[in-house]
Amino acid sequence: MIECPHCEFPLDPGRASTCPKCGETVLGAVSRGLLEVDVAHAGETWDVAREKIVKAMNEALLNGHSGLKIIHGWGATTGRSVLSGLAVALLRGFATRYGGRLSPDRQNPGAHILWLNR
Ligand SMILES: [Zn+2]
Repeated sequence: MIECPHCEFPLDPGRASTCPKCGETVLGAVSRGLLEVDVAHAGETWDVAREKIVKAMNEALLNGHSGLKIIHGWGATTGRSVLSGLAVALLRGFATRYGGRLSPDRQNPGAHILWLNR
């Protein structure tokens, strides 16, 4: 759930493009590039990483980013494989829910990009 930046009315990010309470445009008001978030290189636990991804997803939707890039690590070192798999699963869920498209980052095997359709 996200909030209207103008009046803090709770919004469904999958549906609302204008706030039903104050009528302001809330989603995709400004067109921006890719929002990039690293959730793997500060020793994050899955709980912390998950929170970062959810927050970034809300921000990407609210601010009209063209997509969300999550750097989740390579999955080769201890513990990271778990985080990487969970991050991809979470992003895949977002892709289904918000109508986006998830693809691996060609430049970075430790990252995925969720492209948001607008
Ligand atoms: Zn509002």
